[in-house]
Amino acid sequence: MGEFELIRRYFVAAACAAAGEGIALGIGDDCALLQLPAGEQLAVSTDTLVAGVHFPVLCDPFLLGQRALAVSVSDLAAMGATPVGFTLALTLPAADADWLQGLARGLDAMARDCAISLIGGDTTRGPLSLTLTVFGRVPAGQALTRAGARPGDLLCVGGSLGDGAGALPLVLGERDDDSHEARALLAHYWSPPPQIGLGLALRGKASAALDISDGLLADCGHIAAASAVALVVERERLPLSAGLRALYPREPALNHALAGGDDYRLAFTLPPQHLASLLAEWPGVTVIGRVEAGTGVHLLDADGRDIRPPARGFQHFGSQGD
Ligand code: ADP
Ligand code: MG
Repeated sequence: MGEFELIRRYFVAAACAAAGEGIALGIGDDCALLQLPAGEQLAVSTDTLVAGVHFPVLCDPFLLGQRALAVSVSDLAAMGATPVGFTLALTLPAADADWLQGLARGLDAMARDCAISLIGGDTTRGPLSLTLTVFGRVPAGQALTRAGARPGDLLCVGGSLGDGAGALPLVLGERDDDSHEARALLAHYWSPPPQIGLGLALRGKASAALDISDGLLADCGHIAAASAVALVVERERLPLSAGLRALYPREPALNHALAGGDDYRLAFTLPPQHLASLLAEWPGVTVIGRVEAGTGVHLLDADGRDIRPPARGFQHFGSQGD
């Protein structure tokens, strides 16, 4: 099977490659063409997943496709953008029909949930990796950046934390558990639902936002730095899923919630007057702290004492645990 046959069979033919709203021209030409409504800005984000670094080499391609797209679309959700299209740059050691079909089906499943279309890509031979670039649209000036948090705002998250890190020993086969709770953690790891609707609801309300990919404390550090404020996290308020609580004692569960990556929940700062209306629509939203004048991220225990955080989030080129 040649490169063009592969592209045609698995990607041009994929359900997610069908033309969607805002796509004037999809796969097949030198470029795709996007048609933005007047007054909207294009939101763009790229993520690369490398076999053996971001996912196990032998993982199920359906799950990989789902997860790769979910992780990328989560960045659009974090900006308050509506998904439009994505490209897929795929590097493969060999063209395995079953593997490609599984990947395409996984992309299809997540693309349908997110209402996003595959609009192009590139296909090359080499060590397995995927690069997805997602495109979204947002009314000019309304994107949720990391830079607007103000002292007095609440610090909130869009749902339970720590499930991604809690699932990792199961993903890596270091822990064997077939319980309902373990399966729930695995489901979150392989298919973290991008919080698109919440992102849209936060437009005009949240003062800063991002999606938690590297761990709550590390990612809160990005808001603190970009907004030139201090973020205070109250450890006892962190929402932990039933699955995480069932599989881990409280301390390790809290540490997963604080420092583990792969949650893809939104974290955002919110002027307090918006809380009631947001909670009415999004009951999964939880206040976990507040914004103060100052710098950095501060972690408080149940008695309000400032405690040193455990290990920081994941960094590819950083020293760990400092
Ligand atoms: P070019 O040589 O102009 O870069 P290619 O031959 O790489 O074009 O690709 C042909 C068409 O197929 C282009 O529209 C490209 O976007 C699309 N394409 C290539 N690989 C993929 C892929 N993995 N998924 C989706 N579309 C792809
Ligand atoms: Mg090309």
